[in-house]
Amino acid sequence: MYAAGYKTRFTKQSAPNELAMNKSLLLVAAMLCTNELLAQDARRIHEAALVIDTHNDVLYQSVMRGKDIGKRINSGHTDLPRIKEGGIDAQVFAVWCSGKFGKGTAFAYANKQIDGLMSVIHNHPDVIALATTAEDIRTLAAQGKTAAVIGIEGGHMIEDRIDYLDSLFARGARYLTLTWNNSTEWATSATDESRNPGKLKHEGLTDFGRQIIHRMNELGMMVDLSHVGRQTFSDAMKTTTKPVLVSHSNAYALMAHPRNLRDDQIKAVAENGGVICLNFYSGFLDPMHYTKINRLYEKYVTADDSIKRSSDTKFDLLPAVAKEQLRPPLSLLLDHIDYMVKTAGIDHVGIGSDFDGISSTPLGLDDCSDFPRLTEGLVQRGYSEADIRKILGENVLRVMAAQTN
Ligand SMILES: [Zn+2]
Repeated sequence: MYAAGYKTRFTKQSAPNELAMNKSLLLVAAMLCTNELLAQDARRIHEAALVIDTHNDVLYQSVMRGKDIGKRINSGHTDLPRIKEGGIDAQVFAVWCSGKFGKGTAFAYANKQIDGLMSVIHNHPDVIALATTAEDIRTLAAQGKTAAVIGIEGGHMIEDRIDYLDSLFARGARYLTLTWNNSTEWATSATDESRNPGKLKHEGLTDFGRQIIHRMNELGMMVDLSHVGRQTFSDAMKTTTKPVLVSHSNAYALMAHPRNLRDDQIKAVAENGGVICLNFYSGFLDPMHYTKINRLYEKYVTADDSIKRSSDTKFDLLPAVAKEQLRPPLSLLLDHIDYMVKTAGIDHVGIGSDFDGISSTPLGLDDCSDFPRLTEGLVQRGYSEADIRKILGENVLRVMAAQTN
């Protein structure tokens, strides 16, 4: 009895353990299976979707430095092979120059950058072609070619001249970001409005600024409201008759940076039928970014260096291991997308990576070839295929098409 009892007790004790172990093994196997299924699903959705990235700075970063992006280059975030790997069907190439360029130089430099893009297209006609309409993008995607769209990042490049705006449009430019970090004579930037409240010569759009928006509406050129100040934003929304684009900005509620949009702005874009495209920059995503970076500077950059260096070159002084520590998880970008979808609605959210214009990105998004990881994240968060397609490109296509209606 005792032996039997012992045996019974032994059996009774061990069976649940084995069972529990089998169960957890099964659970792990099921999870692996589910993850693999999700990954497969994400790959299929990503390939089938029309993917548009509304902001990339490779023209300034690499093309203007003489690099042939038709081949894989060992620097930066972007080249044509990696765009292809990332499943990006339409890439907006930002034309950018700093505010140091002014009258007599900025417009010419913008044209030089467009020349640069045109020679990339000329040298690689089987891979890439210029797109100026939503229809062009669909046609080129069906042919397996990258659709190149031109966006002008900064109103200073039209040098206060409507004929220069017309000329850039004629060359193919389909959006103008009213300001970059620098204000123009006719529109104030987020940087200036937030740093010098009440001290600016004017705040928001002037009458000439409104004329520019009217002309953009007439031409069918998207009004891009990334980088602009709150007053300019609000004035532009009252002026435009067409849906607007916010080409590379995130949610202020999750990261309080002047480059990000407040809830009232997000809702205004939704009401206007526009689209807000999310930026991958750690500094616009992560509320801990500046605390983290300052700690890393204290640790790795000497006081002597920091006097001499601007913040950009100071960042370059950080060792690779410190730069890695600064990168937030991909889930943080997904949180911004969730927030934007919750606040604006699924029809008003898109992607504007800012690759090659930013120094730090979420883990897993090393360069533009990693775009499928974003889709994987969206699938894991339970977005439907139809909703993912909207975020990846359809919403931007709708806004583009609406410019000429
Ligand atoms: Zn920018």
